[in-house]
Parts: sequence; C-alpha cells; structure tokens
Amino acid sequence: MRYYSTRRKTEPVDFTAAALAGLAPDGGLFVPGEIPAYPAAVRSSLGTMDFCDIAFETIKPWVSPDIPAGALQDMIRSAYPFGAPLVAAGDRQVLELFHGPTAAFKDFGARFMARAFSYLRRGEDRPLHILVATSGDTGGAVADGFFGVAGILVTVLYPRGRVSPLQERQIAGLGGNVTALAVEGSFDDCQRLVKAVLADGELKKRLALSSANSINVSRLIPQAVYYAAASGRALAGKTDPPGEASPWDRERGPSSGDHAVRRGERITLVVPSGNFGNLTAGIYAWKMGAPIRRFVAATNSNKTVPDYLADGDYRVRPSQATISNAMDVGAPSNFERMACHLSWEEMREAILGMAVSDEETRETIRHVHGGAGYFLDPHSAVGWTAADKLLDQGLFDAGPLGILSTAHPAKFAETVEPLTGPVPVPPSLTAALERKPESRRISAEVSALLDILGEN
Ligand SMILES: *Cc1c(COP(=O)(O)O)cnc(C)c1O
Repeated sequence: MRYYSTRRKTEPVDFTAAALAGLAPDGGLFVPGEIPAYPAAVRSSLGTMDFCDIAFETIKPWVSPDIPAGALQDMIRSAYPFGAPLVAAGDRQVLELFHGPTAAFKDFGARFMARAFSYLRRGEDRPLHILVATSGDTGGAVADGFFGVAGILVTVLYPRGRVSPLQERQIAGLGGNVTALAVEGSFDDCQRLVKAVLADGELKKRLALSSANSINVSRLIPQAVYYAAASGRALAGKTDPPGEASPWDRERGPSSGDHAVRRGERITLVVPSGNFGNLTAGIYAWKMGAPIRRFVAATNSNKTVPDYLADGDYRVRPSQATISNAMDVGAPSNFERMACHLSWEEMREAILGMAVSDEETRETIRHVHGGAGYFLDPHSAVGWTAADKLLDQGLFDAGPLGILSTAHPAKFAETVEPLTGPVPVPPSLTAALERKPESRRISAEVSALLDILGEN
C-alpha cells in the first residue's frame, strides 16, 4: 500500500514511513492511494468469522508488504483478547467498544499501533520515544497499549489536576516504559510542548521521537474492523450475548420493533464523534465492502460537521466544554481525510449529521436506564439521542439501527450515577483504581520537557 498526503505536496510513502511519521511532511494526513476491497469470499462470511480473522482480512492490505501475514496474525491475537459485541438494547442494538483494558474504543487503535511500531522498529538498537499529549482518555489507552512493548518508551503529558482520578491512574499508574508528566497548565499547553519538541527535526532524529495521536494511520485502520464485524453480524440477522464486562449481564431478549437486526438488511451505525477518526474508519470499512447502510455523525454542541453536512459550509470554531468531553472538538482533525475521499454530496448520501445538547444527553441516560435497563456513558448517549432526534424528525425510516458505545459508563460515573444509581465497575477499571499514580510535575515550558527527554 502507498500512502499519499491529503495535501498532495509530498511523494507517496509505504506503511512504515506513514505510521512512524504520523503527519505528512506537508502538514497533511496520510490517506491510501486506493481503498482496498474485501475479496468476495470474505465479504460473504463477515457474519460468521471470528473477530481476529476479520481483523486480519481488514488490516492486511493496508500494511502489506511491510508487515507479513504471520507477524500480522501474531499482533492481532495479542492485541485483541476482547471483541466488540453487538448487543440488543430496547428497540435497537449497541456496538460495545469498551471491553478493552481502558474501557474505551481507543484501545482498538492504540493496542494495534503499539505492536505495529514495535515490529517496524525491530533490529534498531535505540528505543523509539513516543510523546503524547492528553486531555484524559487518549493518554490512558496509549499508555496501556504501549506498556511493556519492547523497544519503545512512552511519555504522556497531561494537565495536572484536570483529569479524573481514574484517568490519572490509567496514565500514571503503570510505570515501566511509561513516563507520566503532570504539566502545570492546560491540555493546550501539553499539546504545545509536544508539538514544539516534534517540530525540532534535529532533536527528533537524535532521540528517535514520534507521536501517537489520532491522526496516525496505524491507529485508524484497526478501527475499521469492528464496523465490518458488526455490520456482517447484523446482515446475518444476529446479535451477540452481552460481553463479560457489561454492567447489565441479566438475561435480555433480542431487540424488537422496526430497528432490530433482520437477516438480509443492512444496519445504520451511529458514531459519537469528536475528531472524526472513528467515523473515518467506518467509511473505510464501508468502502472495503462492509454491509453498512448509512452512518450517523452524532456530536455534542461542537457541531462543525453536522452544520457542514446541512449547508456545505465548513467553519471550524473554538471547542465548547460538554459532559461528553472526549468529543469537545471544534476543528476535527480527521475531517481532512473524509473530505479527501468524499465530496459534500457523497457525504450527505452516506452520513446523516445530528448535534445533541448536554440536557438531552442527560435525559437519554436517565430514560434508557429506566426503560431498556441499559447504562449509557455520556458519549454513547449522544449517539442514542442523535438517532432519537432523526427518528422524531422523520429523517430516518425503519431499518436496523446500531449505536456505537465508545466508553464504559463506569468511566464517567460522576455524570452517569446521579441519573441512574450505581454503575457496576468492570474488573479492568477496578484494577486501574488500585494503582498508585506516579508522575513528575513539570512547568508548561518546552525547556522542562527537553530536560526530561535529555535524561534518557
Ligand atoms: C475519543 C472519543 C470519542 C471521539 O472519537 P473520534 O474518533 O475523535 O471522533 C468518542 N467517545 C469517547 C469515549 C472517546 O474517548
């Protein structure tokens, strides 16, 4: 596979170069020359294949020939001991993406990326230094994904006092090859420090520095896998039993009504979105041949993309704080990729947009728990609400409907519990809560970060 920059000002590169560089030299994002298609035999068996086999068939063309089949199989088996069940909830389905170690969908991308980086760097004697700035969720997934991976050192910068106690333990409780830096400043300060250091070409080479943010192709590609698996199951008319870590493990029957899965019918998937990496991965799965009918781009009040879908005018704006804070993005970085693959008209065919307020989100968490007995986290509740609003407005007719659940509700207990009562905590989060966070405080100055990097 050759990767081009969305800005087309640099020569195409192979997967290794695209993954290790992250951003293209012209400031664009790497996109494939041509989106690969599933072989017919794979497409017709998506409904019955095992998650890891779907992962192999999905990822293979994107990393070939740089990662050979055997190595890819090993990476996938070790990255995904958990899957992504499509479970029944009331009148629709939920695609649960929170069964990984940090209980959010970012585990899918981060765990594959870590293994890919380790493989691509094999034989190098210098460790690769990964820098990542986080407002909370990404840092935990990246720290956990890279923890103990040979040949890689990770430094996570987070704003001191501005992440939840659970998030701090996920970032700073591991130790080993993960260094946590509590920056005296905001998330924007953290990002500024990382960017400044990565922009220093000489330093970047000398210390073998890279980053692990969501624009990296190696984090994006593995996210296409659960779209293919879920849409295949839905087309076969099947759902999965709730996963082990679900807080609602009581017996539940299949969904009923107009939006239940039915054999031969394609599913519409609702994607709670911020930077739009997840939805971009969905578009890749769909273009590869996954049987998806349509997408819904669900946002909180940061509604740059729903507005664009409505009037064709793309206006980025400052981000607004909401209760679904992992989606507080006014200038979604992956939009550049979407616009590279689809015109406005094509986007409007494939994607319905809908923005949701905090008040509506809270109301949904409350009534879905009261009605279907299902606990939604605030991000997934944005997705559920967006579907409700489209249905109310007659913009969505009958047909199977699935909401992507991007995080476990226990991760956001402070918002969810006042609306539902106690949320059961999955074992992965209980274990994280028992860790002791150990981080180093630094001032929000580039020199402070350089001092720490210089020690290694
Ligand atoms: C990151 C995140 C999102 C947004 O995903 P994008 O790929 O940035 O659109 C949604 N929900 C949760 C819980 C997240 O952590």
